[in-house]
Amino acid sequence: MSEVSTAEAALVLDARAELGEGPVWDERGGLLLWVDISRHELHRFDPASSVDETIDVGQHLGAVAVRAAGGYVLALERGFGVLEAPDAGVELVAEVLPGGSGTRFNDGACDSAGRFWAGTYADDEAEGAGALYCLEPDRSVRRLLDSVTISNGIDWSLDGRTMYYVDSSTQRVDAFDFDAESGSIANRRALIEIPREGGLPDGLTVDAEGFLWVALWGGSAVHRYRPDGSLERIVRLPVSLVTSCCFGGADLEDLYITSAAYELTPEQLAAEPQAGGLFRHRPGVRGRRPNPYRG
Ligand code: CA
Repeated sequence: MSEVSTAEAALVLDARAELGEGPVWDERGGLLLWVDISRHELHRFDPASSVDETIDVGQHLGAVAVRAAGGYVLALERGFGVLEAPDAGVELVAEVLPGGSGTRFNDGACDSAGRFWAGTYADDEAEGAGALYCLEPDRSVRRLLDSVTISNGIDWSLDGRTMYYVDSSTQRVDAFDFDAESGSIANRRALIEIPREGGLPDGLTVDAEGFLWVALWGGSAVHRYRPDGSLERIVRLPVSLVTSCCFGGADLEDLYITSAAYELTPEQLAAEPQAGGLFRHRPGVRGRRPNPYRG
C-alpha cells in the first residue's frame, strides 16, 4: 500500500455561486472560465487581476468549452449553443431535447478531434432519464449512451484511447475504449468506486501524468487517482459541495476547483461561508491544455 498524501485548497474568489461548475482554462485571454448553472451565468475569471466577469446567457448553462474559431460552445438547457464573442448573443446550433422532456444538459468536454461531449439529467433526477451526447464539428449530434441518471465529468487518457466518464448516481468513474477518429465508445467498465460517505463523484480532469482528479459533491475534497484507479492524493476544501476542477494558469500548474451552495441549509451555510467559491491549489503537477471545439 502506498501512502495517500493530503493538501488543502485556498479560496481565490468569494463568488457565492449557487451552482459553480465546469471550470476550463482559456489560454487566449489567460482566463478561467466557469459557469453558475442555475443562475445562467458564464464567468471569466482573470487570475492576474482577480476580476471575475459575468455573462448572462439567459438560460440554464450546463457547461462551456473554448471554440477554435473564437468564442465558446455551450451546453444549454435543451441543446448546444455557440457564443461567438462575449458580447454576442447565444446562438442555438442544435436543439436536442424536446420541450417538456424534463431533462437538461450538464457537464461537458471536448475530445482531441474537436467534438464537444455533454450529458443530461432529469430535473427530478429520475433514474436513467438522462443520456450522453456528442456535438460534431459539423454541428450534427449523436447520442452515445442511454440510461444515464446524472451525467457529469468527462476526460481522456494521455494516449487518447480511453474515455473517463462519471454518472454520479453510480458512485463510479467508468472507463470506455475510445476511438478518436470515429468518436465511438465501447467496453464500459468501472475504474474507481467512491464509497457513499466520500460524496458523489462529479467533475474530473486528467493531468499531464495521466492521473485523474475527481471532485466529490458532499465530500469536501478532490481526489487524485492513478490510471489504475488507486487513490494517490486528497485535496481538502472548507466547503462540502465540491463540483469540478481543471488546471489553469500560464504554466497549467494551478488546479482550480468550483463549488456550490444551493442545497445547503442556513446552518450549513453559516458553517461553510466560502460555499460557492472558486478555489485553487498548486499540486506540483501540470495539467493539459483543454481541447477546443472545432465547429
Ligand atoms: Ca457537475
